[in-house]
Amino acid sequence: MNTFHLAGYPRVGAKRELKFAVEAFWKGQNTEEQLCQTAAGIRRQNWQTQIAAGVDLLAVGDFSFYDQVLDTLCTLGAIPARFGFDPARLSLTQYFELARGNADQVAMEMTKWFDTNYHYIVPEWHSDTQFSVHAERLIAQIKEAQALNQDIKPTLLGPISLLWLGKEKEDGLKRLDLLPRLVPQYQKLLRELANAGVDWIQIDEPVLAVDISPEWLAAFEPTYRELAITGTRIIISTYFASVVEHLNLLQKLPVHGVHIDCVRAPEQLNVFADGWPQNKILSVGLIDGRNVWRANLREVINTLQPVAEKLGNNLWLAPSCSLLHSPQDLAVEEKLPAEIKNWLAFAAQKLQELGWIKQALAHGCDSIQQILADSDAAATSRRHSKLIHNDAVAARVAQLRPNADQRHSPFAQRIEAQQAWMHLPLLPTTTIGSFPQTTEIRQARAAFKKGDLSAADYETAMKKEIAYCVEVQEKLDIDVLVHGEAERNDMVEYFGEQLEGYCFTQFGWVQSYGSRCVKPPIIFGDVSRPKAMTVNWSAYAQSLTKRPMKGMLTGPVTMMKWSFVRNDVPLSLVCKQIALALNDEVLDLEKAGIRVIQIDEPAIREALPLKRAQWDDYLAWACESFRLTSTDAADSTQIHTHMCYSEFNDILPAIVSMDADVITIETSRSDMELLDAFVKFKYPNDIGPGVYDIHSPRVPTEAEVSHLLRKALDVIDQRRLWVNPDCGLKTRAWPETIAALQVMTDVAKKLRQQLTD
Ligand code: GLN
Ligand code: ZN
Repeated sequence: MNTFHLAGYPRVGAKRELKFAVEAFWKGQNTEEQLCQTAAGIRRQNWQTQIAAGVDLLAVGDFSFYDQVLDTLCTLGAIPARFGFDPARLSLTQYFELARGNADQVAMEMTKWFDTNYHYIVPEWHSDTQFSVHAERLIAQIKEAQALNQDIKPTLLGPISLLWLGKEKEDGLKRLDLLPRLVPQYQKLLRELANAGVDWIQIDEPVLAVDISPEWLAAFEPTYRELAITGTRIIISTYFASVVEHLNLLQKLPVHGVHIDCVRAPEQLNVFADGWPQNKILSVGLIDGRNVWRANLREVINTLQPVAEKLGNNLWLAPSCSLLHSPQDLAVEEKLPAEIKNWLAFAAQKLQELGWIKQALAHGCDSIQQILADSDAAATSRRHSKLIHNDAVAARVAQLRPNADQRHSPFAQRIEAQQAWMHLPLLPTTTIGSFPQTTEIRQARAAFKKGDLSAADYETAMKKEIAYCVEVQEKLDIDVLVHGEAERNDMVEYFGEQLEGYCFTQFGWVQSYGSRCVKPPIIFGDVSRPKAMTVNWSAYAQSLTKRPMKGMLTGPVTMMKWSFVRNDVPLSLVCKQIALALNDEVLDLEKAGIRVIQIDEPAIREALPLKRAQWDDYLAWACESFRLTSTDAADSTQIHTHMCYSEFNDILPAIVSMDADVITIETSRSDMELLDAFVKFKYPNDIGPGVYDIHSPRVPTEAEVSHLLRKALDVIDQRRLWVNPDCGLKTRAWPETIAALQVMTDVAKKLRQQLTD
């Protein structure tokens, strides 16, 4: 029989139980014991689901209160010394402080996990970073799983990826130089796990899927030679892209098995299967851990059968990557159209699919005859469904006029037309769009959705929020205002709900960072906009003020990247369709008197293919799609865009090619690191590097904000520089928001004064 295993299962709970328990703990409404009970309940439930699906090795070590990279750092004692915490006695409160900051220390940096929308905590490396093993937490979870009388397999992030994912916090330090210090601790950790009865362990080395240098690659053999002698059997796991270029290395590595992602890189399957060493496991991920589509079981089985003949029991079956990136259970969805629901599979269903595949490989396709017939029928229904194909959309994309993606005039001319009516001071201030989403706002939205609040009452409630938000910004003397996005649950879902071709789930939550989850919509068909989506709210907000009001849209790449996307047409086509739908909205906003429009593209960088060789192609259609959103916008209409976490030094030319009049970006957590790029390559249009971190409730000091702004002024022309926070403020509370923005505007005014004196 082929062993069926998985790297990890969603951990927030089918109804986000963990999120609510964690947040209650932060607010002091929940004890540590209660929180731990909730967590244990989720783990138990997850293991039961795995057992029911026929998993051979239960996943352990995939649970986390905040982030698995942070957990790995804690397990290896590698927490930043600046916090002054003793790694041997780290409390849960201290653990959360590492992630969220405290009164004395800013939070550890966070960034996207490869090309997903999951954020991990970035390790901080110093020349004197010390490692020590603290495996109690992990071992306790292993014991819980073992108590279910099942074989288990913990998942650990590997030493090379752990180092690679971190940042050197000292000049001259090369993080790879820490490896000799780190490997003995991994060795010790694996020994402790072996003592706890762990036979198999999965060690993730996702860096193998990106372009890493020969120096890093060379570290693999010696490292795994050391780890091979610890008494556990290691399966080394890769995902998100092809690792075919490392075939030789992976064949020779002294480990017991290798996992490859054959959803993202199906072409590597046969290359790996041919001549695979007889004494090694090859784990094949043919069920998509990152998307929601039901597998075409017959196709998957047909693909696997010849591999199974070659490899026998050395073929293992798994999802392509951890199911962390997939919603948990389709069965709880009650509102999806039946036709569409039949095309989908979430984490629980993906495990079932793997169970069936395993059965078919062992006992033949006849043993799952009905299951296969159902899967065939779903595939046929999806291929031909009227819900998917829209001729008008296809025609519009096909008939785009030449240069449809270019504004009428170049930036130099546009900015004059904009300044002529905007009358902005030097260093104009603005925000990124959202303001605190208070409990009242959420309650009103929920009540409206349930039908407990009438449309009229809902509108009144939202308008009250908008009015308050405008009033606050006027008091703060911010220059370009926003309406605050009170009506939006989520920047992608809000638009997805109003576009054709999208559907949405009730409980399809996926962890984004910490306790924050997103519920990505599903793009199942051709996209179009039946009617205006934001105009009423923005026009109302504009009616309350003389200052420019920014309209707020989510860009096509982000709309796509933060959704589950159909896999039956190229991504570039989906992206263009969304761009044209947004263009309709831009023109409607203009007509309604909104002359500053921000089109957020926080996802543009994370959507980069992991392999550089594919970047140019992606950037060409991604940037073209962005530009298409502003087709026919007047020169005097100021188009903003916003990006978070954009370490975009390496894609600056593409960002420039998007030709937004103003770009705002996340920079404060990395101390304006992105500005390095400006030394080499001047950004020609206006730019607002974020001057404080919005991911923590901490109010920045004037000195901090002014330090960041002065750094920016060193490399950016003062006439091009804007002042704004790093990102939207929806996750913050009002008091800290007002206090932080006050600091921001005060500093801007003082600097303005100094610059004009
Ligand atoms: N306009 C959005 C907001 O402020 C942008 C969010 C984001 O960049 N992730 O919430
Ligand atoms: Zn942002």
